[in-house]
Amino acid sequence: MTAPYSELPTTYEAAATEGAWYPQWTEHGVFTANPDRAVAREPFVIVIPPPNVTAVLHMGHGLNNTVQDVLIRWRRMAGDEALWVPGTDHAGIATQNVVEKQLAAQGQTRFDLGREPFVQRVAEFVDKTGGDILNQLKSIGASADWSRTAYTFSPELSRAVRETFVRLHEDGLVYKGHRVIHWCPRCGTSLSDEEAEFNDTNGKLYHLRYVLADDPSQGITVATTRPETMLGDVAVAVNPDDERYQALIGKEVVLPLNGVRIPVIGDSYTDPTFGSGAVKITPAHDANDFDVGKRHNLAMPVIIDAEGVVREMEGAAGRVPESLVGLDRFAARKAIVTLLEDAGALQKIENHAHSVRHCYRCDTVVEPRLSNQWFVKMQPLADKALAALRTGELRILPERWEAVYVNWLEGIRDWNISRQIWWGHRVPVWYCT
Ligand SMILES: [Zn+2]
Repeated sequence: MTAPYSELPTTYEAAATEGAWYPQWTEHGVFTANPDRAVAREPFVIVIPPPNVTAVLHMGHGLNNTVQDVLIRWRRMAGDEALWVPGTDHAGIATQNVVEKQLAAQGQTRFDLGREPFVQRVAEFVDKTGGDILNQLKSIGASADWSRTAYTFSPELSRAVRETFVRLHEDGLVYKGHRVIHWCPRCGTSLSDEEAEFNDTNGKLYHLRYVLADDPSQGITVATTRPETMLGDVAVAVNPDDERYQALIGKEVVLPLNGVRIPVIGDSYTDPTFGSGAVKITPAHDANDFDVGKRHNLAMPVIIDAEGVVREMEGAAGRVPESLVGLDRFAARKAIVTLLEDAGALQKIENHAHSVRHCYRCDTVVEPRLSNQWFVKMQPLADKALAALRTGELRILPERWEAVYVNWLEGIRDWNISRQIWWGHRVPVWYCT
């Protein structure tokens, strides 16, 4: 049968052409990889960076998935056994945050629903967006092997997560630690280093004067961007080689506002050339101070609760003046600055551009906070990953990104894997008496 030329459309109609061809491809299984064939042919595999099920795909996904599709089709046509594994990511914090916003619009929180009904509600949301995402990939012609579609919260992958946790634990690479982590008071969860993103901020540097306990005419000046943390100070650290302060090491200073006496200690962590050369040490609310606190066996009073509200928590009895209890941390900052000024303990305030960590999901300023969390010991894992690059087993293209990779892994700290959320894998740990 031949159609008259006049019936050929004057413009390309994507819906008619693509809508007809895509089912043909999938019905004939042309995207389905066969491991048996990969014996004779070169295997070529791409695992999709799984899109978050928080929302449907945007133009950026359209671009990066097209690039993957071009690569996979190229290798398939060149005779490789090509496999593109599609899937979606349950995206714990992100998805929970989206559904919490929907609830907030109805004047509810997840606590109003309770754990089980909330998880059910998120699952329903995810069914919808997850399905839409896969259909979007199909509609741009992605030549993925749909028979292998994965979901990071499926029973199979959940089992893999548990298995990985157990193996790391058996290898001594997973442990529970009591230390300072990044805390989002809005999401009510701890965050990994990567989830607490740096934002350049025009802040203030507050110079505070702590007087000597045995001679109030003398004192020592410390500078801080978070004056509210002074309520949790347990020491002032100076460099032991700094001649200006050597005579003060071992003496005590008095914290303004709460009258708590704290020692002046010598610790080489202190940089004599930065600021006054003396730093206040708040082990429960600063990761570096926590390390100093450990070295000197200092107390670690917690003066900000999980909601970001100032109050006397663990070990902080007698540290928070009555008028500050119950204030949000930023309201407390303002109030404390006024109180310090009235007490004559505020020397000066300077403008100060610095980087402040924010929650990558809700943009709330992260609060460093002492708590119990699970960590992965990173050094042995990072060493292997770095060695793979050095031996050529792993290649990064383009090569200029190798420096970023090396820099990241060489400076990596132990990874906090705990999240205090309801949507996601639970740490597979149970306690018995
Ligand atoms: Zn947050």
